[in-house]
Amino acid sequence: MTTTRFAPSPTGYIHVGNLRTALMNYLIARKAGGTFILRIDDTDPERSKEEYVDAIKRDLEWLGLHWDKVERQSERLDRYADAADKLREMGRFYEAFETPTELDLKRKKQLNMGKPPVYDRAALNLSDAEKDALRAERGNGVWRFKLDHERIEWTDGILGDISIDAASVSDPVLIRGDGQVLYTIASVVDDTEMGVTDVVRGSDHVTNTATQIQIIEALGGQCPRFAHHSLLTGPQGEALSKRLGTLALRDLREQGVQPMALLSLMARLGSSDPVELRSDMAELIEGFDVNRFGAAPTKFDVQDLFPLTAKHLQSLPLTDVADAVEDAGVPADLAEPFWAMARENITTLADLKGWWELCRDGAEPLIADEDREFIAEAVALLPDGPFDGETWGTWTKAVKEATGRKGKGLFMPLRKALTGMERGPEMAALLPLLQVIRARG
Ligand code: GLU
Repeated sequence: MTTTRFAPSPTGYIHVGNLRTALMNYLIARKAGGTFILRIDDTDPERSKEEYVDAIKRDLEWLGLHWDKVERQSERLDRYADAADKLREMGRFYEAFETPTELDLKRKKQLNMGKPPVYDRAALNLSDAEKDALRAERGNGVWRFKLDHERIEWTDGILGDISIDAASVSDPVLIRGDGQVLYTIASVVDDTEMGVTDVVRGSDHVTNTATQIQIIEALGGQCPRFAHHSLLTGPQGEALSKRLGTLALRDLREQGVQPMALLSLMARLGSSDPVELRSDMAELIEGFDVNRFGAAPTKFDVQDLFPLTAKHLQSLPLTDVADAVEDAGVPADLAEPFWAMARENITTLADLKGWWELCRDGAEPLIADEDREFIAEAVALLPDGPFDGETWGTWTKAVKEATGRKGKGLFMPLRKALTGMERGPEMAALLPLLQVIRARG
């Protein structure tokens, strides 16, 4: 059965980049009728925070990316210790004692000599006595996985055929000196034991994948299918990594971005399919295919989310936005006509408030000198209430007959006088909502 997972580290809020990963894994699982696991990668006790775990769940729920199971790495430390023992018994795990400064120096030397900065495995030559001495002096060493120096190959769902020379990669550290288990091994153990069949993650993980394939094989597991999506850049192709902090999902939510807008964009951006607003998750699932994504960096422009949000809102019935309409201050008896008037004229729900204020308080009229008389005449012709969708038509017909004006010369001065603006909602829909006018009726 298809099983995927989204595996954030709860060390911060999730952003659009993380969402891409979450969404792809979610869609693969749902399309196959499989299982989607939310795995909290919290093996780092210092940086992991419960508040981030809660925020991640809230963000996913907001988007409707419901998970079937939650797993926490901090509750599985015994499993990782078992795996580490297994690797030790196999002779694939060794303790190394270099300090970060020493490693840095080694790397610099290698680079100076034009060699790739790969860990030189000096620790493999340490005798037991030397290790004891180093341990006494420096404390426990780190544990490195001894890679087999051969080519590591896989067919990536996005990048195609990959072949990496294991000799060009340092033996990965899987356990730190202080005993902290690192993601590289924890992830392998989890993916294997949880039966994960498909792993989609960012292309910054390609080298990890190479080493993880060897670890999975050493532990006797089955390799999942891997796909590495490209990283997001800004609209000009600039690195987004620094700005990702400002593209947290919670901030987008704050700015009024609608989930369907965000999902519609992120589920297709960077693929050969067009970005179009989709009406629901089923439609997103239906058309999703990870193989249609390209390896090139993907340009992301936060501004693209707003037209999609506006379009989505336009499609909604009042029942879906009733709370927002009420929060804007609209009385219940006007909610229906108000929404019908406003929905074509908002970008986010936050704009409702302004339209309600216009209805409630009116606007500073915008009347050109040459229109003063015309407006006075028009006001005198305003029919008696109650007003409805027909009133505007009846009224402007009467004004036209009385003044001889027509077209733009007729409608524009009226619009500007009533709304203080040159553009805006359908006047026929707006007029019955204008409280000043209602009061007269
Ligand atoms: N916790 C890892 C990360 O956020 C998970 C990577 C993976 O999907 O394996 O980068």
